[in-house]
Amino acid sequence: MLVVTRAVEETRARLADHRRAGRSIGFVPTMGYLHGGHLSLIDAARSECDVAAVSIFVNPAQFGPGEDFERYPRDEARDLALCKQHGVDIVFAPDTRTLYADDATTRVQVGVVSRGLCGDARPGHFDGVATVVAILFNIVGPCRAYFGQKDFQQSRVIARMVRDLCFDVELRILPTVREADGLAMSSRNVYLSSEERANAPALYRALSAARRAFALGERDAAALQAAALGVLAGAPLLAVEYLRVVSADDAQPVAQAREGDVIAGAVRVGAARLIDNVVLESNPSCNAPC
Ligand code: AMP
Repeated sequence: MLVVTRAVEETRARLADHRRAGRSIGFVPTMGYLHGGHLSLIDAARSECDVAAVSIFVNPAQFGPGEDFERYPRDEARDLALCKQHGVDIVFAPDTRTLYADDATTRVQVGVVSRGLCGDARPGHFDGVATVVAILFNIVGPCRAYFGQKDFQQSRVIARMVRDLCFDVELRILPTVREADGLAMSSRNVYLSSEERANAPALYRALSAARRAFALGERDAAALQAAALGVLAGAPLLAVEYLRVVSADDAQPVAQAREGDVIAGAVRVGAARLIDNVVLESNPSCNAPC
């Protein structure tokens, strides 16, 4: 039976009851407006843990001034119905004042992994992410927590925070779920007009071109980036914000790509900002058209 909690104490008490009964907790933090990417994390939590807990919270602290906090898509009734269908036990859906005291001043800064890529494009974004995830981990307690490879740099920031601050959390990072044409699923895809939507898969095609070049032996990061940029040149609606080969560990740029490194990109298309990444492998396995 799905239980929806709004308060910290109730959430803690319910999860503590489960833990006392010897049940493991799988936790999936989200900003709601659930899609197939979120559901893949929820399904994994459901199958790998005794209790599946999901949080739904559009976190103001990770949006910069002028970003899309106000118009970020929200549909709690639909999200709860999907959670129910997918066997979620607890949805924690707090309001902002529940997570942040009016005079809260503490921020979690993770350091180097927060820099470059989205960290440069969105100053303060990863401090906001790390802070809310730390708050949520402290409410949920020891658990296995599920994040998507789609937000690659975010996953690195959280992994570093968990290690550095000794959170009793085991992280699971799961592959990006894509539409049939390769576009990474995202709540923000609703911002796309039909023409923009038709152009949007060029980002994944570009990253896939770099992945192919890597599989054929190219290791020079500039050459891999050029292979991707060549594809994006044919998609004039997409304005490139960044496109970089980075280390899988700390998301920092590398000159020579190694097995398991990542090529990550961000583009602006109309009112939307899309991000995506692929892992560079000698023998790539694809979960969408390559
Ligand atoms: P969000 O609601 O966008 O904050 O995302 C919540 C979680 O879902 C994060 O761990 C994301 O990385 C993950 N996620 C978002 N989109 C996808 C996707 N297309 N495939 C897999 N995971 C995703």
